Amino acid sequence: MINIAIDGPAGAGKSTISRRAAAALGYIYIDTGALYRTIGLVALRAKTELTDADAIAALLTDALTVELRFVGGEQHMFLNGEDVSDAIRTPEASLAASAVSAVPAVRAYLFDLQKKMAQENNCIMDGRDIGTVVLPDAQVKIFLTASPEARAKRRYDELCGKGMDVKYDGVLADMIQRDYNDSHRAIAPLKPAQDAVLLDTSDNTLEESVALVIETIKSHL
Ligand code: C5P
Repeated sequence: MINIAIDGPAGAGKSTISRRAAAALGYIYIDTGALYRTIGLVALRAKTELTDADAIAALLTDALTVELRFVGGEQHMFLNGEDVSDAIRTPEASLAASAVSAVPAVRAYLFDLQKKMAQENNCIMDGRDIGTVVLPDAQVKIFLTASPEARAKRRYDELCGKGMDVKYDGVLADMIQRDYNDSHRAIAPLKPAQDAVLLDTSDNTLEESVALVIETIKSHL
């Protein structure tokens, strides 16, 4: 199977770029952030203290089912049979995802699911530790970055577009907080794999970034 790993901080454009590149190349696109967001939602709904790693680990019981399904070619997340694809996109779910993702039991719980998807499909998988931990043997690894301001602006526009009432300063602050959490956690921190191609999208349009990623993938296969 062809496995492409795309990692990088929040708002670098990973999901949109990966989705489009996957469609152009005929691969499936797997958004691993959605898995962490789903566990984040489990913690929010259970009113779990987000700093309590043991309490978060205790949520991962046999009664919990987290499924990734493709509906009309798009990835949807199901939590105990409920489609939570929209519910996991709120700012609260973003911060909860970042918190639960630092818990080793959560990463172990989601690891097999990600591995299996990659073994069975030609795919572009995006996340924070795909090139370093989940798919160390991926044929192509890309680390996508952009300045915090460029990333916050994109995320702000996206949330406003969905009708959410957010402030740019709040989005930027959340993003800086998440970057810090993600790159300073002890387990699977956000960092480029040694053999990753680094691409900075700050000054690119979306179309330019998509073209650059497709070109990078093709030239490395
Ligand atoms: O990519 P997205 O912003 O949806 O991810 C939400 C959160 O999930 C990230 O801030 C990060 O903490 C966590 N995550 C992770 N490892 C991944 C993907 C996401 O830790 N492979």
